[in-house]
Amino acid sequence: MQLRFECHLTGADYVTQQGWLSATLPCCPLHPHGDCGFARHGTYERVSPPGTRVARWYCPEGHRTFSLLPDCLAARLSGTLSEVEAVVRAAEQAPSLEALCKHQRLDIELPGALRWVRRRVQDVHGALHRIKGVLGDTFANVAPTLTAFADHLEVEPVLVALRGIAAAWLDVLPKPLGFAPRRRRGRSALPRLQHRAGPDPPGCPA
Ligand SMILES: [Zn+2]
Repeated sequence: MQLRFECHLTGADYVTQQGWLSATLPCCPLHPHGDCGFARHGTYERVSPPGTRVARWYCPEGHRTFSLLPDCLAARLSGTLSEVEAVVRAAEQAPSLEALCKHQRLDIELPGALRWVRRRVQDVHGALHRIKGVLGDTFANVAPTLTAFADHLEVEPVLVALRGIAAAWLDVLPKPLGFAPRRRRGRSALPRLQHRAGPDPPGCPA
């Protein structure tokens, strides 16, 4: 299970400063009162940026692993949120995705490049739609694009900022912003969004 590591480092600084060493998870998200053997469980490596590691914990009673993903990194996608944002914002400004793909992913053929760009645009715009659903007061009149969200919030890069702004809903927001499990074909995550009662993220009791 992925959890948010509130971290203001860029991807490059996270690697050079070994940001994973500063990640802490003081108690088990499943058993906040302890007595479950919860302990640090090393790190796992990510391909990009090179040298990236993510801190991990394990609860033997719940047979669950927890990893603390820093705000700079995309969830379940290689690389950083800022890299994803650059692609999506370029797509929002481009006359067409085909035109954009002439400059993106020159290493692969056009159909592959189109899929690569489209997947990122759909995932990010899907997350923005859902954020509008749960934070309607804040984003009621804002189009579900990164350009519009950045203008409204007056912040760059906006995806990294949204990890904090939408922190309470990361477990229902899709990758690469949120940590929601993959949606099964034909099933919507929407009911869970609507039934969600409180903004408390997993963590220790107050
Ligand atoms: Zn536990």
